Amino acid sequence: MRFKTILFFAFLVSTNSIFARDVVNIYTSRHYTTDKAIYERFREQTGIVVREISAKDQILLERLKNEGDNSPADVLILSDAARLWRATQAGLFQGYKNKLIDQRIPKSLRSKGNWVGLTIRARIIVYDKRKFKKSDVPTYSDLGKPLFKNEFCSRSITHPYMLSLLSSLILNLGETEAKTLSKNLVLNQARKPQGGDTDQIRAVGAGECGVALTNSYYLIRLMRSTKPRDIETLKNVGFLFPNQEISGTHVNVTGAGILKNAPNPKNAELFLTFLTEADTQKMFAYGNNEWPAVKGLKTENQILDNLSDFRKDELNIEAIGSKQFTAQKLADQVGWQ
Ligand code: FE
Repeated sequence: MRFKTILFFAFLVSTNSIFARDVVNIYTSRHYTTDKAIYERFREQTGIVVREISAKDQILLERLKNEGDNSPADVLILSDAARLWRATQAGLFQGYKNKLIDQRIPKSLRSKGNWVGLTIRARIIVYDKRKFKKSDVPTYSDLGKPLFKNEFCSRSITHPYMLSLLSSLILNLGETEAKTLSKNLVLNQARKPQGGDTDQIRAVGAGECGVALTNSYYLIRLMRSTKPRDIETLKNVGFLFPNQEISGTHVNVTGAGILKNAPNPKNAELFLTFLTEADTQKMFAYGNNEWPAVKGLKTENQILDNLSDFRKDELNIEAIGSKQFTAQKLADQVGWQ
């Protein structure tokens, strides 16, 4: 009987993720097994156990709103500037204090102390190699040319990835030119906006669309895939980083911030700092085929590393997020759905 009691307590101690006092609770829109390894490393280094709730961005934001002051969450991880800006506007963050974070992460990839970008993704152009060549479409603006009549495909403009891109175009070109371009993009549509980014790549591969937009990691995921369907999809798909000769390609981030009602703010600060360390950065970026936000790091993901040296637009990512309502208004005016 006593032996059984000892066993029971040994079990309790081993399940420290449930009973440990030193924890950090994170709400994350990511869902990669590599993240579990990151949490384990953090526990080894600090003794702090990471508890994770993983769900879609919108669900996490709703949940945080409903939980209010009683939320157990310490850290929020979201992808895309548009969503991070919404979380900032909702007053969800308390800001971080560690100066190391700002030293490690380039200024354009973080907000004014609310949250910090951890990985970079680029919004790139894919095209049908049977119909077009790279030099046909060196910039985002070129997608509006008459050459691409009935050829342009994208997901809905209401999606954060599209709103952020349009926001960056508004900042770079001004509202008038961005509106003209939007009008031309609608004229050039091959079909009603639909599906996700991977669907756009597949539609280009299938010859339904001549040019399309996608986040880089969706393409890299297909490039690394050994599935016959993916290999077949990419046979006729070319890609390029737009605006290399001018502003640079629009980049976005996955970012994290400490929540205002964090019950464990010190642990949250330690965890956020840990996410900006070189080794963690590599693992975190690798998980979703994104590039580390810290400059000059290689991830050992060959395809990702080989594509890392493109010119990135250095517009501040928070400024991009703040333009999303202007972007949506502009899209509505030209009937872009
Ligand atoms: Fe995505």
